[in-house]
Formats: sequence, C-alpha cells, structure tokens
Amino acid sequence: MDLINILPDSVANQIAAGEVVDRPASAVKELLENALDAGATKIQLIVKDAGRTLMQVIDNGCGMSDSDARVCFERHATSKIHKADDLFAIHTMGFRGEALASIAAIAQVELKTKTRENELGTQVIIEGSQIKEQSSCSCPDGTSIAVKNLFFNVPARRNFLKKDTIELSHIEEIFKRVALINYGTDYSFYSNGKLLYDLHAGNFAERISQLYGTNYRERLYPIDEKTDIVSIHGYVSKPEFARKSRGEQYLFVNNRFIKHPALSAAVEKAYADVIPDRYYPSYFLHLELDPARIDINIHPTKTEVKFVDEHALFAILRAATKKALGQFSLGNELQFNPIEEVDFLPPPKDYVPQQPNVRYNPDYNPFTNPTPQSNTSNGGFHNSNFEVDRPKSSKWTSFFDTDDRQAPQTHLDSLPSEEESIATPQPQVMAMRQMEGEAQPTTDSPCLQLQGRYIVSTLPSGLLLVDQQAAHERVLFERLSSRQHAAAAQQLLFPVNCQFSPADADIFNELIPDLKEQGFEVGALGQTTFVVTATPPDLNDGELQQVFDQMILDYKGSMLQKFNDSRTCLCRSLAKQMAVKAGTALQQAEMQQLIADLFCCQVPSVSPSGKKTMVVVDPATLF
Ligand code: ADP
Ligand code: MG
Repeated sequence: MDLINILPDSVANQIAAGEVVDRPASAVKELLENALDAGATKIQLIVKDAGRTLMQVIDNGCGMSDSDARVCFERHATSKIHKADDLFAIHTMGFRGEALASIAAIAQVELKTKTRENELGTQVIIEGSQIKEQSSCSCPDGTSIAVKNLFFNVPARRNFLKKDTIELSHIEEIFKRVALINYGTDYSFYSNGKLLYDLHAGNFAERISQLYGTNYRERLYPIDEKTDIVSIHGYVSKPEFARKSRGEQYLFVNNRFIKHPALSAAVEKAYADVIPDRYYPSYFLHLELDPARIDINIHPTKTEVKFVDEHALFAILRAATKKALGQFSLGNELQFNPIEEVDFLPPPKDYVPQQPNVRYNPDYNPFTNPTPQSNTSNGGFHNSNFEVDRPKSSKWTSFFDTDDRQAPQTHLDSLPSEEESIATPQPQVMAMRQMEGEAQPTTDSPCLQLQGRYIVSTLPSGLLLVDQQAAHERVLFERLSSRQHAAAAQQLLFPVNCQFSPADADIFNELIPDLKEQGFEVGALGQTTFVVTATPPDLNDGELQQVFDQMILDYKGSMLQKFNDSRTCLCRSLAKQMAVKAGTALQQAEMQQLIADLFCCQVPSVSPSGKKTMVVVDPATLF
C-alpha cells in the first residue's frame, strides 16, 4: 500500500511559515523590508495589541500590478532574483519569495496596492492561504498590507506569544534595526493608536539621535575607514559610556542588520584595556562590501552571515575601532558630523593590518576619581600597545563605589544593620539546619578574605568557604523580597531623570508599584521620561539609569524564561546590582555580618541566580 502523499500547499505553507514567522516581530520585519525593497521613501507601521490583532505597513513604493498582487502570496514568488547566480549579487533585503506566502498561511491578510501607471489599485483578501476576494479599488500609489489575527488558525502558536509589553519590545527592536540603517526613509510607528516614533530621512548620525535622543551623540566617536575589502562607517561609544549589559550593539552589512559573534568580538576587543571586565561598548557600524564575498543565505531569518574574508574583516574592524578610540581619547574636539577623511590607505588583498600603537592612560577609570597609583609622571599617558595584558583594578568591580576612601563603609552600609537584619531564623529553618548537622557560626568566628572574593571561616563541623558576592546577593534578595510594606525612602537632593525607549517605558511603568515598595519614588514626565525623587537608602543615585536599564533587561529576560512575577524579578535584579562584588576588600566586621545574615536566610546555600554561596569542608574527610 502506498503511504506517501504530497502535502497540499496550504499545509506546506503553514509548516514553512514556522521558519519565517515565529512571532509578530518577524512578520513586521518582512513587511518593512518589502516596503524598502519597493523603493518607499515613507513607511508607516501600525500595530494593535503588540501585533496580535493587527500589523499594517503602508508604503509609497512601486506597488504591484493586478496579477502580481495575487501571485505575491505564492511560495517562491519573488521579483528580486531570477537565477541561482543572482544569489551572489543580492542588493535587496528579501529574495526568497517566502515571506508573504508564510504570513498569508497563518493570518488574515488584506493587501491594497497600486502602481503609478495604473489608475486603479487592487485589493486582495487572503486567509489561511485561501484567496477570499480580489477586486479593484481606489488607493494611493504604493502598497498597504494589513496582517490581522496572527496565528488565527494555529492556536498552539498563538498561545506561545508573550505578554504584549514583551512582544511590542521585540517589534520595537526590529523597527530600530530596520530604521537605523535605512536612514534615508521617513517612518512613523503607531502602537494602539499612540505614535511611538516619527522619524525623518537624514544621515546615520541623525537617525541615531532621532531614536536615542540628541544627547546620545555625545556618547559616540565616529569611525570612517575604507579598504579595498570593506568600508566601515558608523559610531562607537566612548569608553566612559560602556554599560554592564550589551545594550545598543548594531552591526549592519550592506544595509542589513546582522549578528556575527566574531565581528562583535573584534569591536569589543578594541576596548579590552579601556573599559572594565563585563562592561560593554555600544556601537552602530555599517560595513559595506562586495555581495559576492558574503553568504547571507544560511539562516531563514537572515541575521547570520558568512564572510569569505572573515579574518581580514576582524583585523580591520578591531584596528579601526582602536584607531577611533585612540584618536579621540587624546582630547581632540569631536564633531559628531562627518570629520575629515582619515588617511587609511587600502591594504593589498592578503594584508593583515598591524595593531596601531596608541597612547592612552591605562589607569583611566571613567567611574572613579583619579587614583594615587595612576601614572602622572608623563601626564597620565604611556607609550603603550593596547595588547598589554594589564591586571584589572579591583575598583572596576565595585559598582556602587563613588569614593575610594569611603568604599568599605559603603559596603557596610549595604549590609543590613543590626536592627534591620532578620535576627532569628525561623524555627523550621533552624530545625532543618540542625538536622543537617549544621549550626550557625558564632558571630565572632574570625574570618579571612581569600583572593578578594571568598570568605574563610569556621563552623563546628569544619571549614566554611563563602562566595562573598553570591552570599550578599542571597541576603539582599531575601531582605528585599520579604518586605511587607514600603521600605524607607531616601529623598534625593536633586531629582534624577531617567529616559527609556517607548517599549521599555511601558515595562518600567509596570514595575513602578514594585519599585515603590522598595523605597523608590517615581513620577512620569511625559511618555518616556521619569523623574526619581527618592531611592532606597543604600543605592547610589548616580547610577540610576544604569540600574533601571539593567532591571528592564533582566525583566525581559526572565519573562522569556521561567519567572513571571515582576516583584521577584525586580528583587533579583536589584540584589544582583547592589551586591558587593568579587574583588572588593571586606573588613572583619563586614565578613562576620555577612555570614551571620546568610545563615538567617531561608535558602542560604544558593544565590537567587542559582550560584552556590558556600561550601563546608570537614577536615576529617581530607586526612
Ligand atoms: P521576497 O521579498 O523575498 O521577494 P516576499 O514574499 O516578501 O518575497 O514578497 C514577494 C514579492 O511581492 C516581492 O518579490 C515583491 O515583488 C512583491 N512585494 C511584496 N511586498 C511589496 C511591497 N510592499 N511593494 C511592492 N511589491 C511588494
Ligand atoms: Mg520580502
């Protein structure tokens, strides 16, 4: 008996759709790219309920003829390539002819389109790959595609969608990726009737300012390099604006956003000696190269690419970034707008560039005041190569330090005070510990700090080793999350303004009640700006923007994973950011207090992020 049958197109399309459209943002990406490929100079993006009920893109591009308006929904229907060779000379964003077929398989789509030559346009309505209606209509030149009720016929996929704030932030990210590099086009972006972005055609720098605020320009150095393999144009952040999370890192190749870990590493490596460990630069870089030397055809969502000249690209990108950092860190007045051409002669094809020798101050720490050990004999600068493997100063890691002399005090402050700490562990916890044969260390057990990150002490049952950062995270987390009523707030002398992207501002709004519980006082100043007038006592207000940015990032991350409780997520994020870091010298009393507090925790043995906080070694097992 024959068992094999060929799947009908509608089923095949639905299966293929899974590759192309996994969430509303991926449909938005395809629609925006089609509008750009159609030569649009104005693009409108309208979403409702984070794309769940509606995603519409209206463009003033070339439009489609009556028959194209029907054929465009067929699988492998594309006007962009004709033969296999064309794959090596791609100048458009799309070329697979899959997007519209996929979208039409899993949504209700309304297309209205008109070419300039035609008097009348065409309207096509298609649902689950079935054309329901095609008729003439009057409409402006260009194309409007409305995608309604995504996954209406695939309830399982619909159920996988996240909360609206999360889906909208994905759409916003896609929108930024497209709008950043296609800066010659006007865009307006509406969500639930609210105008989130209104961008006007300009240059790359202007587009960055439109998206991130005019002050953002001051954070960046320009890069402009031309070699015969690649030309690089864009901006990298000044070292002092490095952040604890990978924030705005945008790499574009031939007008397309890409992810390429090796090339990103090339940029980050250029910063190795000017920013602390685990801090990351921002960058907006556009690489233009011969399409024949790229393979963009390796992933359906096409953010991954392969380069023929990967090694040379890596070296050029790193050298160019170092050059920008070196050139401008010497105090040149920076004009953001195009600077004079820097002379960078095109190297021969097989040439691997040398690292430039750049003068810089290896002790320069943008986050602290000048330190006594900084080399001032030659004005703070060495003749040195960036590759020098310099041990990182421990001060880098103490995020909340503002003044070295006060540092130990600051940490003591952030440990709970005598009265505040949870003095007696709950009976069941004590009982459990006794069952485990573990008793609390006496508060006067001597402590020793090991390698700046571990505390060594004694327990009746043996040697106690504590990871100070993980332990403090646990203590803070339990303290923050056990608060029953609003914590004491410390009024700020100068209120601090914090600004977020529209999608992040929505998330921040959701977090405000939880923030208030922790002692923050926050008010809105417009849609995306907030003013903070009070903070919990042990938080440094100079870092608020960074703390909130990280919190939002953590929140997005945990919403995608297992945690759905905003309060827990916020407490985890705050505890992580406030905890004393490895590399911070602790005094005897601080170490004893930390251990005492740790043993009062409900779950003393792991940090809220799952890291072991302590190990007990029984000497008898060693001898
Ligand atoms: P691809 O972009 O890979 O060619 P799509 O499925 O996205 O495949 O689109 C199929 C075809 O429909 C495109 O090649 C193009 O000819 C046409 N098309 C899609 N969107 C538009 C638009 N906004 N304006 C004009 N033509 C469009
Ligand atoms: Mg396309």
